[in-house]
Amino acid sequence: MPSHLCDLILAQGHEVVGIDNFLTGHARNIAHLTHEPRFRFIEADVCQPLPELGGVDCVIHAASPASPKDYYDNPIETLDVGSIGSRNLLELARANNARYLVTSTSECYGDPLEHPQVETYWGNVNPVGPRSCYDESKRFAEAITMAYHRKYGLRTNIARIFNAYGPRMKLNDGRVVPQFMDQALNGKPITIYGDGLQTRSFCYVSDLVRGLYLLSQSDERYPVNLGNPIELTMLEFAERIQRITATDSKIVHEPLPQDDPKRRRPDISKAKAILGWEPEVSLEDGLKQTVAYFQSLQAGAV
Ligand code: UDP
Repeated sequence: MPSHLCDLILAQGHEVVGIDNFLTGHARNIAHLTHEPRFRFIEADVCQPLPELGGVDCVIHAASPASPKDYYDNPIETLDVGSIGSRNLLELARANNARYLVTSTSECYGDPLEHPQVETYWGNVNPVGPRSCYDESKRFAEAITMAYHRKYGLRTNIARIFNAYGPRMKLNDGRVVPQFMDQALNGKPITIYGDGLQTRSFCYVSDLVRGLYLLSQSDERYPVNLGNPIELTMLEFAERIQRITATDSKIVHEPLPQDDPKRRRPDISKAKAILGWEPEVSLEDGLKQTVAYFQSLQAGAV
């Protein structure tokens, strides 16, 4: 997602400095910006003291593993980037009197007991389960953002992102969209975890970054959900991928990971009301774009 956000901000005429340590990201996602004079890239870890950047007007903290597979593999790094990374980037914003936006997550709601999820719901998170490194890191990131706003008057925004997808994801990312596509495109069984009746709501990346950009300009300090309210079971989703890819791959069932949320759908009334934002890209179009991307990636054309 961050590379798409860079593209959008550059298209608005701004200059962008991108920072990534490539723990889970990939340099090919910004290769098209190599000759863009308004884009500068620094390979660095935001948990370390930051290099000199010059003046900045807006800091966007979008650094973190986001796939369950990636944060199970890197739990300490995940906790660090939400805590130490947040602290460093909030200090950068404060030193520059800059705006600050943090990309938080629907995982703050944990395995939600309220449905759909409204921003005022406090969530149902297991603080010591395998997902807690991500959930609690993001919850801390939200808490320290509010603390900087309250203590220093920093102009902050918090976005809670629901299952974003699109081109530039990794095929071996582990999340359900690339995983099912990889399996469907390569004749492997499609692995549904559990009975497949758990639900998710998928938001195409161009819709998401448009929402993030609008939010970064708003004066709303409390969290705002950004996601697509269309909700599917994972069984329905697998069937959709089978149809779009015209695959012969069959569905198999594997054990459900611990604490896997049973239902997830954003209530986006707040984003609609204060940002005039709602998703525009249909699931069908978004999935077709994403399949086309993975096909060109596999063909070595990306
Ligand atoms: N999932 C699945 N098969 C897979 C990968 C994921 O059934 O090969 C399910 C997973 O159990 C979850 C949903 O798909 O219920 C979304 O998982 P993902 O890892 O994409 O993200 P999450 O929403 O859990 O953070």
